[in-house]
Amino acid sequence: MRRNAASPRAGRPVSALGVAILGSTGSIGTTALRVLERQGGRFRVAALTAHSNSELLGEQVLRWTPGFVGIVKGDGHASHAGWALGEGCLVRAATRPDVDIVLNAIVGAAGLDATIAALEAGKRVALANKETLVIAGAIVAAAAARGGGEIVPVDSEHSAILQCIGARPRGEVRRLILTASGGPFRDWPRERLARVTLADALKHPTWNMGRKITVDSATLANKALEVIEAHYLFGIPFDRIEVVVHPQSIVHSMVEFVDGSVLAQLGTPTMEVPVLYALTHPERVADGGLPPFDPVAASPLTFEPVRLDDFPALRLGREAGIRGGAAPAVFNAANEAAVALFLESRIAFTDIPRAIGDALDALDRMDGSSRDALGLADAAARAHVRGQFA
Ligand code: NDP
Ligand code: MG
Repeated sequence: MRRNAASPRAGRPVSALGVAILGSTGSIGTTALRVLERQGGRFRVAALTAHSNSELLGEQVLRWTPGFVGIVKGDGHASHAGWALGEGCLVRAATRPDVDIVLNAIVGAAGLDATIAALEAGKRVALANKETLVIAGAIVAAAAARGGGEIVPVDSEHSAILQCIGARPRGEVRRLILTASGGPFRDWPRERLARVTLADALKHPTWNMGRKITVDSATLANKALEVIEAHYLFGIPFDRIEVVVHPQSIVHSMVEFVDGSVLAQLGTPTMEVPVLYALTHPERVADGGLPPFDPVAASPLTFEPVRLDDFPALRLGREAGIRGGAAPAVFNAANEAAVALFLESRIAFTDIPRAIGDALDALDRMDGSSRDALGLADAAARAHVRGQFA
């Protein structure tokens, strides 16, 4: 979903690009600040927002002196004079005139409105918040078309696909092949999955991420979100988007072309690379922070089929994507609600896909034709999941 092939610097006087980081205190947010630290004067931190971690946000503000600071759940004591409070701060940060690029690193549906507002304001959105595209892919595309904004993915799989496809016409693409690490339970027998503990699920084998996406990676709901994300980003039908398990997380994804050629993007599993690429696409800039890639140390590279029957969230999400309308928003909200309950140790690991499936069955007639309708579907799905375990 790229409106402009040019970088956000094109046509502007050469000055540092203003970056708003929504969710600066999270895993992606702090990774981004580490990347910016090494980029010298190329970028300027124009805005930072957090949910409630005012301590870390305060440290970041001292270091980066942004023109705007927002905190969603701050109060007069926890946050500082001049900080914007409440949910509205996300859209305010995303639409400021001194912001060229919005890095949306918020987790969950809370990131949606800021993405839409940024695209309507003509910004580049470096999108980590995949939930945005899952909930409202068509509405987000329309916002980009209206405002002239563009999305560049941060998710490593989608960054890989973007780098492989480049500007090639979509008619040349036969298949997208998303890689999945398989998560911590890749080789666990099915009977053991019912006894997974929270600590087990939070131990991801190859990536160090926030808690929600770490659980999503263990259930493979994350890969379902990514299949839908890929569909909207690249305009490829669902039956040409496949998933393969690749435990080493070195091949970040592949594109098969109609002539049988397959391009893949490889690298050490660190989000620093796709974060920087989303800021500079289509240019590449030097980053001395990473050691050179060592293919011998990375080997062997192996691939396996997904155990779809044991990790049903992937199939449920793909089916919801194909059904369209409100179904992907219901899938996403049911997953968010179920993961929140799992993180509070109130439900079992295997209850997560079960709760999603029940919500999709119960809410299969919800309207998904507008932002408001999707908000209702989201709320209904959350209520349905909580009701199942009340
Ligand atoms: P984290 O939980 O580490 O960080 C989330 C950030 O969002 C924090 O800054 C948090 O603030 C803020 N936040 C949480 N809830 C809200 C809310 N309701 N309103 C506003 N801000 C909120 O998540 P990650 O960084 O791991 O993930 C962020 C997004 O990136 C997700 O969509 C994830 O799927 C995606 N992603 C992440 C990857 C990773 O490696 N981590 C890889 C690929 C995609 P506070 O700290 O104050 O609570
Ligand atoms: Mg990913």
